Amino acid sequence: MKNYTKLYIGGEWLASTGSETLDVVNPANGEVIAKVPAATTDDVDKAITAAKKAFADFSATSSAQRAALIHQIADVMEARKDELIHGIISSMGCPLAFADDIQVQGAIDSFRSFADLACEVDKQEQHESFVTVHEPIGVCVLINPWNYPLSQLVGKLGPALAAGCTVVIKPAEQTPLQDLILADIINQCGVPAGVVNVLTGVGRDIGEALCSHSDVDMVSFTGSTQAGIKVAQAAAPSVKRVCQELGGKSPYIIAPGADLNAAVKYGVEDIMINSGQTCSALTRMLVPRDVLAEVEHIALNLVSAWAPGDPLHPDTLMGPLSSKLQQQRVHGYIDAGINEGATLLCGGKELPEHLKNGAYVMPTIFSNVTPDMTIAREEIFGPVLCIIPYASLDEAIHIANDTVYGLSSAVFAEDKDQALDIAAQLKAGQCLIQGAYFNTDAPFGGYKQSGNGREWGIEGLKEYTETKAIIFQ
Ligand code: NAD
Repeated sequence: MKNYTKLYIGGEWLASTGSETLDVVNPANGEVIAKVPAATTDDVDKAITAAKKAFADFSATSSAQRAALIHQIADVMEARKDELIHGIISSMGCPLAFADDIQVQGAIDSFRSFADLACEVDKQEQHESFVTVHEPIGVCVLINPWNYPLSQLVGKLGPALAAGCTVVIKPAEQTPLQDLILADIINQCGVPAGVVNVLTGVGRDIGEALCSHSDVDMVSFTGSTQAGIKVAQAAAPSVKRVCQELGGKSPYIIAPGADLNAAVKYGVEDIMINSGQTCSALTRMLVPRDVLAEVEHIALNLVSAWAPGDPLHPDTLMGPLSSKLQQQRVHGYIDAGINEGATLLCGGKELPEHLKNGAYVMPTIFSNVTPDMTIAREEIFGPVLCIIPYASLDEAIHIANDTVYGLSSAVFAEDKDQALDIAAQLKAGQCLIQGAYFNTDAPFGGYKQSGNGREWGIEGLKEYTETKAIIFQ
């Protein structure tokens, strides 16, 4: 077990002013693998003061200097990739191949993309009587969940650094290790003191101090809608910018005439990766009622490939969920699906003997789900697919939009034109058509209760800037 005793504040490793610690638990076997400090509100104050002090100089650096810094950090992340991978596997149970390709290498690549975008901040828009310029917004608090802990971190840190902002970062309680490794990398790279500060701690205890602080200019939060509301409430009195990436219940419409084998394969893979713990997961598969039996048959054949197992084994596609608590939540939804009359095609709460110590959930598919069922309305955040039959495309679009969420969506149609036509009618921040994958060059964010603001790409960068209009006489 590794005992981390310090927080990264003002370019130094400092002991917390409190004595509480948090256990980091391996969800594959329940073992405590590390302890980290639980930061106090005094630690929060110190970190924000350090970030404020660093802002004057860092915001005055050139975009070329900041781009070089991002590449330098990314180079060291590559060199220490194994540590990052094992930190993520051991704290959230993600399988090795996925942790390597997506959780770590994907994160490093997308972090680098902000180096290329840094020069966008310099661009001025000339008008006849005024010019528009963009300036870094200031001190930013970055709060993340545990499901893609490094990607979510760099999706905030990348644009903040590219824009010239300084930051205080708080990882989720369950997954602090990659943030502590990154803090060490930041230190190793000689990033000026106070530009990046990392506090491990409990969101409920220090969230308000972080979000309400008068020296913080922006909070970027990813997590549950409930915590996102608390963040916005704490930030409101000081009128700071709040970007929220929250929950989802994303619909996937398979239109009449679509290639069913390709369409169902895409949908099953999308819900099973990362054990269903993806905020944009396509959890509601809407299929024409007359092909329901065929869809069920294809889905059942595919799901056998997703047998859960040891995340460290190179062939494992599905590891445990991130915690026993998450396993219990998902099992509760499986009970709700059965009790409300959905057809359980596979999975359920039974686990093979060798998986009983871990936070595993079997890949689960419900069919004949109706739009009013709990499993069709609430975010499950586990490997549970809901197949909802529909009678007409209009009905499918209505069901797809009948949700408080609007994070992502997808369409598989007979051809691209039909898919584009359906995509235009969906109320969500993204629509993936004909089997497309998540793209970190494209803006990502929610309609409705899925959030405010956008991450990734130029839109993601601009969230970290203020726009100033300079008007000529
Ligand atoms: P959570 O909201 O409980 O925790 C997320 C983060 O918020 C953690 O760092 C936590 O410490 C912090 N937090 C909790 N209460 C807080 C408060 N009052 N003030 C400030 N910070 C607080 O979420 P979770 O259950 O750990 O994560 C799963 C949820 O996150 C799901 O709902 C999922 O959809 C959502 N999510 C959304 C996205 C996205 O990009 N939209 C990405 C990943 C996860």
